[in-house]
Formats: sequence, structure tokens, C-alpha cells
Amino acid sequence: MIGQPAFRQIPGVDEVLCDRRVAELCEAFSRQVVVAIVRRHLAGIRESIASEGRAPTFEAVVSSIVAEAETMGSLSLRPVINATGVILHTNLGRAPLSAEARMAAELASWGYNNLELDLESGKRGSRQDHVERILCELSGAEAALVVNNNASAVLLALTALARRKEVIVSRGQAVEIGGGFRIPEVMRESGARLVEVGTTNCSYVEDYERAITSRTAALMQVHSSNFKIAGFTHTVSLAELVELGGRHSLPVLDDVGSGCFIDTTEFGLDPEPRVQDSIAAGAALVFLSGDKLLGGPQAGIILGRGELVGRLKKHPLARAVRIDKARVAALSATLIHYIRGEALDRIPVLRFIATPLSEIEVRAERWAQSLGKAAAVVPGESVVGGGSLPGGKLPTRVVAVRPAKKSGVGMLASLLRQNTPPVVGRVEKDALLLDPRTVFPEEEEDLLAAVRRAIARLEGRP
Ligand SMILES: *Cc1c(COP(=O)(O)O)cnc(C)c1O
Repeated sequence: MIGQPAFRQIPGVDEVLCDRRVAELCEAFSRQVVVAIVRRHLAGIRESIASEGRAPTFEAVVSSIVAEAETMGSLSLRPVINATGVILHTNLGRAPLSAEARMAAELASWGYNNLELDLESGKRGSRQDHVERILCELSGAEAALVVNNNASAVLLALTALARRKEVIVSRGQAVEIGGGFRIPEVMRESGARLVEVGTTNCSYVEDYERAITSRTAALMQVHSSNFKIAGFTHTVSLAELVELGGRHSLPVLDDVGSGCFIDTTEFGLDPEPRVQDSIAAGAALVFLSGDKLLGGPQAGIILGRGELVGRLKKHPLARAVRIDKARVAALSATLIHYIRGEALDRIPVLRFIATPLSEIEVRAERWAQSLGKAAAVVPGESVVGGGSLPGGKLPTRVVAVRPAKKSGVGMLASLLRQNTPPVVGRVEKDALLLDPRTVFPEEEEDLLAAVRRAIARLEGRP
């Protein structure tokens, strides 16, 4: 039995805890957590002896214990420099907040606040009071309700209004938004029966009308956020749906997805449904995300008729999907930018969309110059992204960094991801593309220093 002596060499828990570095760890961290990590490592040694016949050195075990505790005791969620040019990047936290929205969230998290206290009367207030009036002002809606996110907004509305009843939706709109969010599945979870009408590319008013029965609770429109059907198509306009709904006393629900208050065509983009247009066209309820084109924190915003919104507010599920104080504050600060007419200047998502090409070009040239011969400015496209504006692209200038060795581009991307702060670009063939559009000016120096360091490492320079 050659394994036996090796097993006998496994140190005891107390022996490891007496090591200087582990003892220091016990001072800085919860002792209970350190002991648990030590036990897990010792069990790991037992396993590696059993499978490989050898044990790591005592020093290696201690280092690994310290590293695990350090990792667990530091934030894994941290700021990343987004040089992908994707403005609403789902993996990178979607919309970055304005300075005012960040400050508002910080203030609301610090100490106590009047989240649900009416300071004038001293009576209980609603957290919705901090955003409802502004939302109504901006959209023209009678009432508003803000919840955790848009998926929960749709779930709440269908549960409250259409449970055990039917909701008619075009087959071409029964879509998957991404991240596994499928409209038909959310609708099913609400207990509403989804009645799909028309075909993938074509639906007509008559298709909806034929499907109306005594069990129909609503007609629904879902914005095809992330795809476009081209060629022979026909869709029913919101106005037509509202007219049909009116004749049958059925509300029309409009999930605009991203939805925004500004006119995206001003920036050469496709028209994105504007929330106020949807309300004006007669939608009974409109749903949108807080952290897509609106440019605020994660939230689901429900706008529409007072009576319907009132029913949603009273539904038990509203409590389960309610929004927290920090995001009420950040959303409120974001909406105030629209009220003050400063949205394009203050909200990063809109500022990035509105940045003129000439400005991006100047920055790209400066980056390329600072990075040396591995870098060149080339034309490219920024992407709006985040389940908004299908095919929404903006002409840009990117800095293409080509490492000397073709295979070096993967290594370059990896070195940059592991930088502090991490830098994420777009790998295309043998180049790493860096788009200035989504990089805040105050991040530029960090980004350039990181790329210069990574290039030097790939070239074997110190
Ligand atoms: C993005 C999107 C959703 C989901 O919104 P979240 O805020 O991410 O929950 C729902 N419907 C549509 C049409 C969307 O584009």
C-alpha cells in the first residue's frame, strides 16, 4: 500500500490553522468561514491522494486556502470598460446610470428615507408616488406602476387581467426576447391562455376578430425587439387593434419592450415605438423596461388606464414583484432628466447614441496614435442592442488592434479581460476592435494603458 504513508502526511485542521498566514486570515475574515475552507481543502488532498497518489505541499495548500478566502471576500461584480460598441449590453449590465441616478440610489440606500411616508400629512404614502406623476406627465397615461422588471410587469398584468381567460396575440409576436424569456411562456405562467393568430409573417385584423370569444380578456401586441421579418409581411397596427378592441370592449395591451420617449430616427435609427405614441393610439396598458433605451435602472414600467393600473396595484403579485428603494430613486432621477429636457446630455445610453461620428473619429485617432503600430482606425458599426431596435446600428470608427502573431488576438482579449479594470472589446477575425462610442472619457487612460501593457506582454517586452 504505497498510498498509506501519503495519507498519514495530511496535516490536521489545527496544524493548518496554526500556520502564520492562515492565522492572519482568521483575524481578517470570519473564523468559521476560514475553518470551513481549511476542511474542504484537506478533504481535497485526501481525494487527490486517492486518485493521483500524491499530495500538494503544505505551502501550496496554505496558498490555495488564502487565495480562496481572498476571492470570496472581494467583490466579483465590478466595473468593466465596455469597448464593444454595444450600447445596451445584457452581459455588461445593460444601461449605465447617469451621475444623478447613481447619486439618488446611493442617497436612498444611505440611512432612512421617505419611501412610503407622505411628509406633508405624516400618513403612509406609496413608493409609486415618487415616479408616477412624472411617468404620467411624460407619457400622457392616466396612471403608472413600476415593478421589478418588464417580464414581471407582463406577468402581473396578465395574471391580474387574464387568468383563466384568453389573450389574443399575433403568431409573429409570440417571440423569445433572449436569456430564455419567451412571451408565450410568461403568458402561460400567468394562467392566461395564449391564442395565437395569423402566420409568422402575416396577420390581419380579421384574424384577431375571428379569434374573439366570450373568454377573451385582452388583445396583445409585443414589440419584436430583437429580430426583423423582411419580405412579404403584414402586421396589424396598434390603432387597428384599438379600434377592434373598442368594438368588443377589450383592452389592448402593448409590450413595447425597450420603448422610449425620444425619436430614434433623429439619429439615423429605425423608429422605436415611443411610449407616448402608444398611449395616444389608445393602448389600455403599455409595458417597458427601465434599463433599455430609457437609460435607467432595471425596472418594469406599466402605464395606462387608471382603472386597470389600479387593479394591478391591488393584486397580491404586485408585492412579489415590487421594486426596491434604490431603483425607485435612480428611476426618478432618470425621468427627471427627461422633464428637464437634458436627457440627451445626461443619460449615458442616449448620449452614446447621439455622439456624432466626427467626435468618435477624433477619439479613435488619438487611441490609435497612443497604441502604436499594432493599432489602426477602421470604419465599423456600433450596436444599440439589449433587445431594442432590431438591426439598430450606428456608423462608428473602431481601433483595430492586430497582435504580431495571428493567434495572439485571443490572448490579447483574455489579457484585457483580466486587467483591473477589465476591458472588453470585440474580436473579429485576427483583430480586437475597440469602439470609443461606449467608453466613458474618464475610462480612456485606463483602457489605453491596459492595451499597451497587453501588447508589450504579447511581444515579450517587459
Ligand atoms: C426586453 C423585453 C422584455 C423583458 O424586459 P426585462 O426588463 O428584461 O424583464 C419583455 N418584452 C419585450 C418585448 C422586451 O424587449
